[in-house]
Amino acid sequence: MPARVEEIKHAKEEGVEFVMLTAPLAIIGTAEGWSATLRCQRMELGPPDESGRRKPMAVDGSEYDIPADVVVNAVGTGANPLLTATAPDLKLNRWGNIAVDENGATSIAGAFAGGDIVRGGATVILAMGDGKQAAAAINSYLIEHG
Ligand SMILES: Cc1cc2nc3c(=O)[nH]c(=O)nc-3n(C[C@H](O)[C@H](O)[C@H](O)COP(=O)(O)OP(=O)(O)OC[C@H]3O[C@@H](n4cnc5c(N)ncnc54)[C@H](O)[C@@H]3O)c2cc1C
Repeated sequence: MPARVEEIKHAKEEGVEFVMLTAPLAIIGTAEGWSATLRCQRMELGPPDESGRRKPMAVDGSEYDIPADVVVNAVGTGANPLLTATAPDLKLNRWGNIAVDENGATSIAGAFAGGDIVRGGATVILAMGDGKQAAAAINSYLIEHG
């Protein structure tokens, strides 16, 4: 679980129940449009792959339902796609984030980027560092092109 130990502890204190080795299969709604059931399947750890990580594998016939009033899908994070989707000249990296050089310069002359939109989900400190680096690069760019 990629989280800090204290975050897991605090979540448990607030009543969050972690259900390990379980994969969601389907959200089954009611005729009125509300979710009513989360269908899940038990998993077990298979043999290690090349990286040494044991891959979860579905246990046949282990499906079960969790009754629910609301299902909140919170799997992973991604950058707001509005900017990247509406700027066709903006080169993206293999993860769909903005591609930049070591100064934060994008494929559009005079446009710089940093932070999560470049790195994917990262940290405040890295975003601040990118901002400082880009500010210096923007200054140089303006002196050169101004
Ligand atoms: C739940 C959660 C917990 C986190 N906890 C931590 C933590 O404890 N410590 C830590 O260091 N990091 C944490 N992070 C990560 C951290 O929040 C981010 O790495 C950081 O905020 C990235 O900064 P940013 O400036 O790149 O992006 P953001 O902070 O996301 O800022 C981008 C801004 O651009 C705006 N925007 C988007 N599209 C447009 C547009 N088209 N036009 C104009 N404005 C636009 C957005 O509204 C937003 O205000 C956490 C993230 C999440 C989601």
